Amino acid sequence: MAYRGINKLNKFIKAQKDRLLQSSQSNLVYRIDCKDCDASYVGQMSRCLKTRINEHRNYINRNTTQLSVITQHRLESSHEFDWNNLHILDKEKIQYKRLLSEMIHIKKQKAGLNLQNDTMNLNTLYIDLFTEN
Ligand SMILES: [Zn+2]
Repeated sequence: MAYRGINKLNKFIKAQKDRLLQSSQSNLVYRIDCKDCDASYVGQMSRCLKTRINEHRNYINRNTTQLSVITQHRLESSHEFDWNNLHILDKEKIQYKRLLSEMIHIKKQKAGLNLQNDTMNLNTLYIDLFTEN
């Protein structure tokens, strides 16, 4: 019994460590999934992931269009997003490459909440190149 207890504790500590590692990363392209439907949101940031998640959670920067689509979905459908299961799609230090990667991942979503103008900068040529048929 005691041994099993320690095992469980180790697993718990490891999980916490992984989460900490994940949330202290920066320069990421990420996706947040809705827990209650297929909706998802792709974003990118140069800052720490933890700061960004807290912003989403606390409705800080309400004015930006990016955050309002998540807030809108939460309010309209009473759905909740899976904040603890953020998908890291890419890690890229160079900003224009990160933005390009973000736009490609936005296009790949099945039920993306991203607004059309999030991908406006992506040349249609690139979309053709990266869209899987
Ligand atoms: Zn939903």
